[in-house]
Amino acid sequence: MNDVALKPDAQTERCARAGVLLPLPLGGAYDYRVKASLPRGTIVEAPLGSRMVLGVVWGAADGAVAEARLKSAVPLEGDPCLPAALCDFIDWTARYTLTPPGIVLAIALRVRQAFEGETPRIAFARGAVTPPRMTAARARVLELAEDGLARSIAAWAEEANVTPQVVRGLVEAGALCATELPEFAAVPLPDPDFAPATLNPEQEFAARELCGRAAAREFSATLLDGVTGSGKTETYFEAVAEALRQKRQVMILLPEIALTVQFLDRFAARFGCRPAEWHSDLSPKERRRIYRAVLSGNARVVVGARSALFLPFPELGLVIVDEEHEQAYKQEEGAVYHARDMAVVRARIENCPIVLASATPSLETFVNASSGRYHWLKLPRRHGRAVMPEIRLIDLRNAHVEPGAWLSQPLRKALAATLACGEQAMLFLNRRGYAPLTLCEACGHKLICRQCSAWLVEHRYRRRLACHHCGFETTTPLKCPACGAEKCLVACGPGVERVAEEFSAAFPAARVAIASSDTLHGPLETQAAIRAMAKRETDVLIGTQIVAKGHHFPQLTLVGVIDADLGGSDGDLRARERTFQLLHQVSGRAGRAERPGLVLIQTRNPDDAVMRALASGDRNAFLEQECASRKRVLAPPFGRLAAIILASPDGDLVREAGRELARSAPNAHGVKIWGPTPAFYQILRGRTRERLLVQAERSVDVQSYLRTWLDRVKLPSAIRMTVDVDPVSFF
Ligand code: ADP
Ligand code: ZN
Repeated sequence: MNDVALKPDAQTERCARAGVLLPLPLGGAYDYRVKASLPRGTIVEAPLGSRMVLGVVWGAADGAVAEARLKSAVPLEGDPCLPAALCDFIDWTARYTLTPPGIVLAIALRVRQAFEGETPRIAFARGAVTPPRMTAARARVLELAEDGLARSIAAWAEEANVTPQVVRGLVEAGALCATELPEFAAVPLPDPDFAPATLNPEQEFAARELCGRAAAREFSATLLDGVTGSGKTETYFEAVAEALRQKRQVMILLPEIALTVQFLDRFAARFGCRPAEWHSDLSPKERRRIYRAVLSGNARVVVGARSALFLPFPELGLVIVDEEHEQAYKQEEGAVYHARDMAVVRARIENCPIVLASATPSLETFVNASSGRYHWLKLPRRHGRAVMPEIRLIDLRNAHVEPGAWLSQPLRKALAATLACGEQAMLFLNRRGYAPLTLCEACGHKLICRQCSAWLVEHRYRRRLACHHCGFETTTPLKCPACGAEKCLVACGPGVERVAEEFSAAFPAARVAIASSDTLHGPLETQAAIRAMAKRETDVLIGTQIVAKGHHFPQLTLVGVIDADLGGSDGDLRARERTFQLLHQVSGRAGRAERPGLVLIQTRNPDDAVMRALASGDRNAFLEQECASRKRVLAPPFGRLAAIILASPDGDLVREAGRELARSAPNAHGVKIWGPTPAFYQILRGRTRERLLVQAERSVDVQSYLRTWLDRVKLPSAIRMTVDVDPVSFF
């Protein structure tokens, strides 16, 4: 696949015509004249209209451009080149997700400056000359210079406590000499033998299997299925160590929020240094540094969010997807792809093993493990003396809850007992802000977003109402905007802030913190809340799903779920699975160390299968039941789904286009088209949205079907169409 068959060019021997893929939403590669013998993946600069763009030598030319109009593309200095396997992966992803390949390439080329040459830093170190004139200031500099290090002018001035002029004077006199340092600091090398953990027998067994697969250097997929606190991380770290010994690179994917300091520190404790990080919060310079280090092979282990999938590893030898069931792996904008599924594809193309880790595997992965397509390694017990927490349901239909309150009597009692013995508690509610709805008691008017068909959520601490879809914010009005009545707006339902208010009223002495993934609070505030909890500076942490995962708080013994019925019935095929995963993960925070944990789940549906499975701890029974019900309706993974979403500011236009699209759907055996129907949030950011759903039997090639269909239709330009293959959200 590496060398592309290039047609020799008629005019010059050493040039050839090749397809160059540009990181733009075009149908495919464009023909350019390039130096012959450039391998697939070579980064080139190519003229496009009046500008120059980066492109990648992709494959054979298609001959569509006349010879006279053919332009030349030139490789960048040093001939940087994307690994051929990455190019294959980009093609695969584009085909599978029906995304123009240039859009997928754009993810891989997001760091355009990464291919520019380095600008060395100029620094100064001790030269041979002794300056003719000595002063106290000069002496201080020369004394410092005995360590042999090179420093910038500013660093010399600061460390020797002299003015920059003094340093410059020494440079002129030849006492300090300029040298060049590389622009970027080196990425530290993780040491596979730095501090291996002593594994328990189950971990040991699993680790040996994983190491064997890393050493085999061929594709395999393994589900590492371990209860919360069983030491999945410790276990897969051994596979990471083996891949390092094999001189291979490792990619570890974490769902965005789990990219915490806690994980990086654990890695450093095991391997002697932090791994390279890849996520959206990196500075452009850091991004450039890591990208180059990955491409050159200097970065051996990269921990990243989903976009790390497209990094140019030349020697990838192991892929890990932690918390593989997480919905955060689904990229919903731009190229719509599922990072977990694409990670499996990348591992297959790279011919290396992949490990999917979870305590609550997705149904897809569970089915793959049960059927033997994936290896299945189990860690059924918590590490050390920790045991699984006891889980009890509180039936809200007959438990005592005061009007306008959310903490039932049994939960309050348990909180009091936990606080009394100096332990920590966590209250979980998957709703940000103070209240999800503000309603006028006089006229019944609900405050909704101006550009979305969604309720405005009250954030009382900031006195704001916010739309969680488009980010619209306004101050909380004093009068009803509909009827003008004063003092009639009431908050309906709880959000985490409201639960915190109730808790503080009941337990004024307890130290409480809120953690929610919120634009109004920001990631730093959340991190601070989590750190305070870990350091025991907080007694009770009240949070949304951000507190559910990964965190390890040894003194946390009580978890209260305020409303387990949220999100259970919104007609979404994965809603039940998601509720189970989320509540199971939250429960898993309790009693992770010496002291046993208790989980109290408040629900109005204690007889529901999800609740029963949580209480009995019988996860597999629940998953099997879910499998059976999905099998009946040919839902994934037993059938295929793809969603088509049309959006436009013009509601009539989008509804008509939806009907037209449905009418033009080709008939095919085993394919059904549902809709168009208004999307769950019918209007988002001022755009009206219509959805169509394609449901197909497993044997159907949905991509070909969609391509045939969508190639036929011409939508008005005011309509934006998104194709979502294997949708996970149904909004
Ligand atoms: P999981 O990811 O399965 O929920 P973790 O890997 O976070 O579990 O492990 C839970 C806790 O137990 C962590 O604090 C971890 O350091 C500790 N732990 C797990 N296995 C070992 C081991 N073999 N030796 C020492 N500590 C361990
Ligand atoms: Zn909005």
